[in-house]
Amino acid sequence: MDAPIFDPEAFRLTPQEAALTEQARRFGEEILAPRAARWDREASFPTENYRDMHRAGLLGICIPAEDGGAGAGFRAYCMAAAELGRYCGATALTWNMHVCSTLWTGALTEGLELDPATRAEHHRRRRLHYDRILRDGAIYSQPFSEGGAAAAGTVAFGTTARRVDGGYLVNGKKIFASLAGHADYYGILCTEDHGERLSRRDTLYLAVPAQAPGVSVVGDWDPLGMRGTVSRNLLFKDVFVPEDAALMPPGLYFQAASRWPHMFLTLSPTYMGIAQAALDFTIKYLRGEWPGTPPVKRRMYPTKQIAVAQMKVTLEQTKALWFQAITDAGPDPTKDQILRAWAAQHSAMENANTLCALALRTCGGQAMLKSLPLERMYRDSRCGSLMLPWTAELCLDRIGREALYEKEETDE
Ligand SMILES: Cc1cc2nc3c(=O)[nH]c(=O)nc-3n(C[C@H](O)[C@H](O)[C@H](O)COP(=O)(O)OP(=O)(O)OC[C@H]3O[C@@H](n4cnc5c(N)ncnc54)[C@H](O)[C@@H]3O)c2cc1C
Repeated sequence: MDAPIFDPEAFRLTPQEAALTEQARRFGEEILAPRAARWDREASFPTENYRDMHRAGLLGICIPAEDGGAGAGFRAYCMAAAELGRYCGATALTWNMHVCSTLWTGALTEGLELDPATRAEHHRRRRLHYDRILRDGAIYSQPFSEGGAAAAGTVAFGTTARRVDGGYLVNGKKIFASLAGHADYYGILCTEDHGERLSRRDTLYLAVPAQAPGVSVVGDWDPLGMRGTVSRNLLFKDVFVPEDAALMPPGLYFQAASRWPHMFLTLSPTYMGIAQAALDFTIKYLRGEWPGTPPVKRRMYPTKQIAVAQMKVTLEQTKALWFQAITDAGPDPTKDQILRAWAAQHSAMENANTLCALALRTCGGQAMLKSLPLERMYRDSRCGSLMLPWTAELCLDRIGREALYEKEETDE
């Protein structure tokens, strides 16, 4: 079995973190890795993986223990997701969308302000969602992007929810909706429409049943990488959802996005795992030990040794920064912690691709054949920097501005 990305003793993991990351690593190596090429080739959704994740309790990893889940906190989840991403990027990335519907409504809300009655009602409602996941293996997705500025967090979502008797009527469109056609519930961000100008403060987080009348999946899906995510577009036309579809009470998402910014770091674990996988592959390949390839050793060439050393340096830098950032996560981080979170996101996303490119150059022509996983990892790794709201560009943009300006400061 592969060694852990974050050695429990060296990184002083809690017993729960050590156990969950070991479970994820074992699951990734035994179940995900042998199937990963198929989802990529077919651009098909890894349904079998989800059935197995349900059986293994992984769909409920972040559901609080008192509600029957594994009760993982933010850091435990991130490290477990990195272990899955090491073996199948598309499964880990879609699992992230699913798990966030439980993490964001679970552990993350505990440090946020809610009056006792609203919190009690939130606990009752989220339990309905948690029960579906634990009992029926229900899969949730997270379609936020709309092709405009909303997913970057600058304007209100154009998808709207208007209050009607007993619930809401939802209208709008989401693009790049991973798990489209395969999730049981689409956990959409939309704006409550009061008949005035839409405001980000009125963001609602609603679980729309995939089978509800008025929901449709459109467009094709034939991308460069992360092909198994099946991120097609979703249309909502007068879709009725009951009040209990609310994954968060009104106003809570806006509070979370403002006070718990590390919630947006959750797209990076998959790519942390791919970064590790690029080095794992290179070492095995150069030692002549990759299964199914001739036992030709290439490790004796100084150029290979230097490239592997460069990869190890980049990987360890990325791991150290990322580990600190996932440890920092919590409500009301300091400015330095927020800047570090952006730096960690940027590093995980960009370095995953840098490492895959170095791995390809170093291992050589035979290593880019589709019979080996490296070329898939290379394509998958390119997608990380594109993911809103913290794309690699936006991370740099924000780090530069926030490092140079204090709040409200201008040059006037
Ligand atoms: C494999 C994959 C799976 C995905 N799954 C999901 C999903 O499940 N749910 C979901 O909601 N989204 C998902 N996305 C979508 C993703 O987060 C982006 O929303 C999507 O890639 C946006 O593409 P775009 O070309 O429309 O970006 P645009 O909005 O056109 O932006 C292009 C680039 O411009 C920059 N930019 C954007 N806004 C600003 C700004 N205000 N200021 C400065 N620069 C800016 C960013 O760097 C961005 O990358 C997925 C994307 C990929 C690649």
